[in-house]
Amino acid sequence: MSSQRNILSPLINRCSMTTTDLVILGAGPGGYRAAEYAAKQGLKVVVFEGSEVGGTCLNVGCIPTKTYVHSASFAEARQRMGEVVPQLRAGVESILLHPNITLVKETGRFIDANTVNEFTAPHIIIATGSETKWLPIEGVRTDPRVVDSTGLLQQEALPKRLAIIGAGVIGMEFASVFHRFGSEVTVIEYLKECLPALDSDIAKRLRKLLEKRGITFKMKTAVENLADIDADLILMATGRKPRVQPDFANAGIEYDERKGISVDANFETTVKGIYAIGDVNGMQMLAHAAEMQAVRAVNHILGKTDAINFSIMPAAIFTEPEAACVGPTEDQLKEKGVAYTCKKSFWRANGKALAMGETEGMLKLFCDPDGVILGCHAYGSHSADIVQEVSVLMCKHTTISELADMVHIHPTLSEILKNAVD
Ligand SMILES: Cc1cc2nc3c(=O)[nH]c(=O)nc-3n(C[C@H](O)[C@H](O)[C@H](O)COP(=O)(O)OP(=O)(O)OC[C@H]3O[C@@H](n4cnc5c(N)ncnc54)[C@H](O)[C@@H]3O)c2cc1C
Repeated sequence: MSSQRNILSPLINRCSMTTTDLVILGAGPGGYRAAEYAAKQGLKVVVFEGSEVGGTCLNVGCIPTKTYVHSASFAEARQRMGEVVPQLRAGVESILLHPNITLVKETGRFIDANTVNEFTAPHIIIATGSETKWLPIEGVRTDPRVVDSTGLLQQEALPKRLAIIGAGVIGMEFASVFHRFGSEVTVIEYLKECLPALDSDIAKRLRKLLEKRGITFKMKTAVENLADIDADLILMATGRKPRVQPDFANAGIEYDERKGISVDANFETTVKGIYAIGDVNGMQMLAHAAEMQAVRAVNHILGKTDAINFSIMPAAIFTEPEAACVGPTEDQLKEKGVAYTCKKSFWRANGKALAMGETEGMLKLFCDPDGVILGCHAYGSHSADIVQEVSVLMCKHTTISELADMVHIHPTLSEILKNAVD
């Protein structure tokens, strides 16, 4: 938890300080988007990045993993990752060349609530991201077979037998793609179903499909001893935790090692003028959430309002086929006693899906008694694109009868959504 301001801070020599409008810690999707947006709005920005710009997402997360998903073999995946990542990184570097932005390639540390290293500013945004949560079992950091997602992406040879601890998003994506590359994959999960954020019906169908294709799932199984796992490589995919650092206490902000930094609806911390966006606040660990939180925080600094609705946060899981969701699951609707109707639609009944040979998939669309769309969960080829359409409809409070009146191109997978309400 937070502690008092650093009592040494008054002793810092203020003469060596440079003043700016905004200091940002971290140049991942949250940090670089905040910098880009703030600079375009006329603020002078200093961005600290202790590693590569682009953060987890670009260097060891979303982009490398999706390059793997869209490669035919392990060898091709590695080669393409080596091309795609630097290309995108160069793109982020060029964004940060804006005349209002100064990129400082070092770790930023709070001296006090207005000072990071040698820069002082009335506004500071913390966008330091997250790191792997390692299961607290013996040998987890010493057994050479155990890697996290970054370690797995560094492997030069395809593991023959890959065990994955955790059937969340990261575990399921790697299970799917490494199985296709030819590894023998076993997923070990403590819970009874994979992907807890996904509707359990959809998650079960997806798991059963991957099981049928040859991935072994050991559900309701707690890993207690690594020696019990018979594999060449073990992926630790038991989640991520906010990356907080001890000097945050010098700023006086409230934070928790496990849950991250406490923030309000504008992503302002308990100290006025200091914001925490992206994974570090532990709210929605997604790249697009980090980017939109960046916009909200900068708007708040500028005294502007916006209409971003953070309760409509679509997410995708890039297994093969992919899965996606927005809004509550059916179980959550039931638990909360919400009155709802569920409309279903299937990939196998869609002309484009049949033409593509991608007939596995199901969509569930939930609406309230007035027909207003509450959410959508699906698995099937390009389900993320379909769920994205639902997110837009939800932002506009669209009803299913309004959706039924909207023309959808034939033949496209988007007709799967329309078919659910016809
Ligand atoms: C394997 C994997 C796959 C993923 N796939 C997806 C996906 O498909 N879609 C999706 O939406 N999300 C995905 N994510 C999650 C996504 O990567 C994160 O939600 C996103 O990167 C969070 O952005 P951020 O800006 O908060 O932090 P990060 O991207 O983690 O960036 C933080 C940056 O801050 C830097 N930093 C930390 N401390 C300091 C400091 N004190 N000073 C200076 N710099 C500092 C770090 O070096 C880093 O560059 C994935 C994650 C992983 C691990």
